[in-house]
Amino acid sequence: MKIHEYQAKEILAKYGVAVPRGEVANTLEEANAVARKLFAEGASGIVVKAQIHAGGRGKGGGVKLARTREEAELHAKNILGMTLVTHQTGPQGQKVQRLLIEEAASIDRELYLGIVLDRAKGELVFMASQAGGMEIEEVAAKTPEAIFKETIDPAIGFGSWQARKLAFALGLGPRQINAAVAFFQGLYKAFIETDASLVEINPFITTTDGQLFALDAKINFDDNALFRHAEIKALRDTAEEDPLEVEASKFALNYIKLDGSIACMVNGAGLAMATMDIIQYAGGSPANFLDVGGGATQEQIEHAFEILLADSHVKAIFINIFGGILRVDRLAAGVVAAARNLNVKVPIVLRLEGTNVEEGRKILAASGLNFRVGETMKEAAELAVKAAML
Ligand code: GDP
Ligand code: MG
Repeated sequence: MKIHEYQAKEILAKYGVAVPRGEVANTLEEANAVARKLFAEGASGIVVKAQIHAGGRGKGGGVKLARTREEAELHAKNILGMTLVTHQTGPQGQKVQRLLIEEAASIDRELYLGIVLDRAKGELVFMASQAGGMEIEEVAAKTPEAIFKETIDPAIGFGSWQARKLAFALGLGPRQINAAVAFFQGLYKAFIETDASLVEINPFITTTDGQLFALDAKINFDDNALFRHAEIKALRDTAEEDPLEVEASKFALNYIKLDGSIACMVNGAGLAMATMDIIQYAGGSPANFLDVGGGATQEQIEHAFEILLADSHVKAIFINIFGGILRVDRLAAGVVAAARNLNVKVPIVLRLEGTNVEEGRKILAASGLNFRVGETMKEAAELAVKAAML
């Protein structure tokens, strides 16, 4: 699960991580009130920041500096409600529904910090780089040696010696080292205690008077651990998510929208991955990832169809089922019912295997509906690709 920058900063502040003063604003009036307050408290400038679940806002025009209240109001007016397009939103962009109004910092250096899981090592890695700011992806691709890494042994935790090593690697001054160590340890503690899957501070800045701040903050959480963090779960903003993915999550369907033309309905995440691969291998492209799970009910299958069909790019549906706990006959009955109820027009190709497969095939054949069945996964994928091209 993703959250907004302002929410991430609120969480980090609780762990002693220094963030600039600021508040979220949902309307222009609120934005003006926060700006007025910050100027009255002595801010020499403020920053108006679009709150969307995507990075690259600075380059897209979603982060603006203002020196006066009038300027701040103008920026807030322009950014609130705009459709912000960044390299992470895709060309359709994302509508800005709220702003973070923050005291401007006087930046000396823009650095980078990140904590992620190193999947190859199976351990967390704390990354730091002097090349912070808006081009970190390019730094990682072209000069990976400019990113310093400390791998964290889960049994020992993040050692203060590791924090010091990173602080020195960042070229911080002697008076900043201790503050940096506390800052990094706060980040790590926040990561562990919130069951995060990613914490990223880009930029992590030093100011002209030597202070350290998280100027931007991104936290993603492990969905599987959300059940033990009610207060984090409450931060979910479904307006930022793909509407079809939100709909799917209501029915416990694991759905991720992609941009191809062949919709997939599969039981099991591994089989779903393999299905997407084999569609590509057969020359097509998947419209989605969809795992209906091991115990899909007819109702879930019907909802799954609705979600797949709501995507106008879908030209064929490929149902790939290996019946174990999910019996193939039950699935077939669900597919027939859904295809009838929803009056499905796009071709449906199935590959069925496993428990009660023969009964399942009979149900499909007896339905009188135009299903195509592939004997093998490869054959079915080829049929689906062909059907999508017609
Ligand atoms: P992102 O583009 O979505 O990653 O948004 P950021 O929060 O990282 O902001 C983008 C850039 O705006 C930063 O790298 C800074 O260069 C600039 N910026 C943000 N806040 C301030 C600020 O308080 N003062 C100044 N001078 N620049 C800022
Ligand atoms: Mg940033």
